[in-house]
Amino acid sequence: MSVIIQIIQGDITALSVDAIVNAANNTLLGGGGVDGAIHLVAGPELLQECAALQGCDTGDARITGGYKLPAKHVIHTVGPVWQDGRHGEPDLLASAYHRCFEIAHQHNLKSIAFPAVSSGVYGYPMRESVVIALSSAKEAISMYQELERIIFVQFSEAAQQIYLEAASRLGV
Ligand code: ADP
Repeated sequence: MSVIIQIIQGDITALSVDAIVNAANNTLLGGGGVDGAIHLVAGPELLQECAALQGCDTGDARITGGYKLPAKHVIHTVGPVWQDGRHGEPDLLASAYHRCFEIAHQHNLKSIAFPAVSSGVYGYPMRESVVIALSSAKEAISMYQELERIIFVQFSEAAQQIYLEAASRLGV
């Protein structure tokens, strides 16, 4: 089956998919940006489940329920904080995406939606992070047969443009 990759502008918390990805921090105890938005909609039970996980390393991911979200699950990943690009940031960001797809595969999930991990408060330049995001999706498609839909969700029009341009450049 051919996999659909969608690039859309909107609020990731509104999506009815098997999993939405949260750009979390190492504590998994909530924060600002997309993390705050996800916890707000999911409700306090999400924080309870996250607390029991006892954190997550940068470049790794954890799965929880979606609670009051329309999404069935949340995959919490921790991307790197951008310094200058020479402190392992590309490898750590690639690892974060890779782990999300790996966990989705372990749970036989067919649809997954990503925000621009690390490209908010963590400062990763979006023109660079988008290449890692889209390449990781291509790789996952070649590895995981059950995948049907991968969605990249952008909050702003500017971010949406960056994703669309990168997708056409990379042939995604
Ligand atoms: P990080 O700390 O990993 O940089 P942020 O949450 O600060 O994570 O930002 C990641 C990206 O998610 C940013 O591009 C931000 O604009 C975007 N974002 C914030 N809220 C939402 C939302 N509700 N839906 C989709 N994307 C969002």
